[in-house]
Amino acid sequence: MKYDLLIREGEVVDPGSGLRGPMDVGIANGKIAAVAPALPPEEARTTISAKGRYVTPGLIDVHAHLFVNSSDMGENTDRFCNAGGVTTVCDAGSAGSANFAGLRFVVDRAVRTRARAFVNLAAIGISGTSRCGELSHFPYADPEGCARTIAENRDLAIGVKLRYGPGIVWEYTTEPVKLARQAADMAGGVPLMIHITDTPLPLPDILACMKPGDIITHCFHGRDHGIMGPAKELILKEVVEAQRHGIIFDCAHGRGGHFNFPLIEKALDQGFLPDTISTDLTFTTATRGPVWDLTTTMSKLLHFGVGLDAVVLRATATPAKILGLEGVVGTLRPGANADVAILELRDGDHELRDTDGNTVTAKRRLIAQMTLKDGRMRYERPPE
Ligand SMILES: [Zn+2]
Repeated sequence: MKYDLLIREGEVVDPGSGLRGPMDVGIANGKIAAVAPALPPEEARTTISAKGRYVTPGLIDVHAHLFVNSSDMGENTDRFCNAGGVTTVCDAGSAGSANFAGLRFVVDRAVRTRARAFVNLAAIGISGTSRCGELSHFPYADPEGCARTIAENRDLAIGVKLRYGPGIVWEYTTEPVKLARQAADMAGGVPLMIHITDTPLPLPDILACMKPGDIITHCFHGRDHGIMGPAKELILKEVVEAQRHGIIFDCAHGRGGHFNFPLIEKALDQGFLPDTISTDLTFTTATRGPVWDLTTTMSKLLHFGVGLDAVVLRATATPAKILGLEGVVGTLRPGANADVAILELRDGDHELRDTDGNTVTAKRRLIAQMTLKDGRMRYERPPE
């Protein structure tokens, strides 16, 4: 037998690899073995029909929260990821140098989804309380510890995280950004991810301290100092320039003003697309919305006119590159890990919500029907 598993008659959508069309996907030994029209079913131990479905690389969520506290997914990470077609997930700075071992314990013991993590500049990570931001006291800033943590956990830690916002950082200058960038340099030039919502500084000041490959996350927030000027009408020219020079704009849905439909519509109208689509998923937003899962966030961008291929690219090949997993996951090219999502694009009237009380009725919605990681079935949507 040539294949352990053959996914038949689906429509392959893998824009990162240039694969598109009705094709079968053959899997052997946990890897993609072949992608081509009409692979012989008699050479497969098992076959699955993906008729009427899209077959994409397993989705990659570059901004979510896996650690264990009131607002992370913790032991529920696999459940939420699998149901959203996600096979690789990245924790966006829940832990810092002082508690990264705790995150490592959770990932090693309770998470089978492929995981990576940004290490917070704050030694205590995201403290999970609105009473006090993780960097409101300067002594919590620990660039050396952050760099050391990354160096000691290369298989898991891939970058530095900074949340820049009122009450989160100790001073409203570019100093916190510069210190975070220093930590990323000390760790060998890893990416720096910066959360911006209601930042006390104009975004261009922050962008000026960043390097190509660094990431602005929550780029569609509707508060002050975002990707648009004060009137929230036009994309800033510094933002267009930064994106052209390789700064990555991640849309991390999240809650509390992080994802604003009117701003998204205007940004898309002006030709601004995020580079990556992610959820900022936590236990609360996965169980009470408005995020639910990655396919729902992707559906919101589909609703506003972004094409299916563009949406899939931003949740597969592009985040794979950020995580240092280019060619390994986020692709259906033969030789890659057999991480696959089988998605349905369901017609209907789907009510979708942003974080600011705006709702739309989408005519189509992506729904994960099956999720496979390393060639093994991790999720099958129960019959409705
Ligand atoms: Zn987050």
